[in-house]
Amino acid sequence: MILKNIKELEVFLSIPRNLVVIGHKNPDGDAVGATLGLKHYLDKKGHTVQVLVPNEFPNFLHWLPGVETMYRFDRQNAQCVRSLKKSDMVFLLDFNALHRVGGDMQNTLEKYDNDFTLIDHHQQPDDFTYMYSDTSMSSTCQMVYNFIEMMDDTSLIDKKIATCLYTGIMTDTGSFRFRSTTSKTHRIIANLIDKGAQNERIHSNVNDSNSYGRLLLLGKALQSLKILPEYNTAYITISEKDKKENEYEKGDTEGVVNYALSLKGIVFGVIFIEDEEQGIIKISFRSKGSFSVNQFARRYFDGGGHDNAAGGRSGESMEETVARFKKLLPKYQAELLASYEL
Ligand code: 5GP
Ligand code: MN
Repeated sequence: MILKNIKELEVFLSIPRNLVVIGHKNPDGDAVGATLGLKHYLDKKGHTVQVLVPNEFPNFLHWLPGVETMYRFDRQNAQCVRSLKKSDMVFLLDFNALHRVGGDMQNTLEKYDNDFTLIDHHQQPDDFTYMYSDTSMSSTCQMVYNFIEMMDDTSLIDKKIATCLYTGIMTDTGSFRFRSTTSKTHRIIANLIDKGAQNERIHSNVNDSNSYGRLLLLGKALQSLKILPEYNTAYITISEKDKKENEYEKGDTEGVVNYALSLKGIVFGVIFIEDEEQGIIKISFRSKGSFSVNQFARRYFDGGGHDNAAGGRSGESMEETVARFKKLLPKYQAELLASYEL
């Protein structure tokens, strides 16, 4: 764990400030929950706070309190740049390095004059002035809760803050089932329910908002599922054609990789998704046990993440990407077979 200049940060925040809060590109439940949860808390402390989001995020997060106040960097560029210009400090949540916000926004942030505060649970964070980094944490939302606790402010947590933080912890832990879920996670979740988070409604808002097209796309994805029993590995492919034929919307492929990992005996699940717009194959890696997909993604697919959940990309075609992936597996066979006691 890294705690850097947190006392100084507390002093800095002891008078009203103009603050910007940012999550990573293609934000997930944890990024949106953490940025909005922190914003609602900082608002209550008397600061002026603007949340910036690099690009669009899935519909199943659009109900979160405060979403309507966010500026999208790719759509509301002038407002974003203006907010940054007048800000005293920028919070970076749920990512570990500036390149994770993507091209233009990265360039803008690299020229930023004031300090950054990082709150994040990804491995190998870059260095910033104020830091709270802990890779053992289930989610950045759990860390925002801890941060509020460090500031001695849990009494300020209200229904809005609790709802945002609950959502991010829930989505990043696969509804409290991944290894990073601890008894402390559950205690925090219990506190958030006491503060007004309506757990049944949150689960329903996030999980029961499927479109017909999304389910058809899932069907198509499952048909593509391939099992490599000699490596305890399974993978799924989704092409641009699959997306187009099933009225693809942002977020529709979220969580699909978990079906590969849900097969009995599988410890390494992968999904390859063709992205015409970016001209890449976007890859999600998931594992059970000791096999580190963070290292695998970093080493071979220009990505990273956590030990059991990481992402990456390939500039090659789908066929070439899958072929390259399959060629790498023999090297990891012993590790994959020993990864998890089933
Ligand atoms: P997902 O597969 O859901 O896109 O990402 C899984 C995890 O890996 C998330 O925590 C995400 O932040 C991280 N991740 C995804 N893509 C990348 C990437 O290209 N680089 C790094 N460093 N992390 C990534
Ligand atoms: Mn996260």
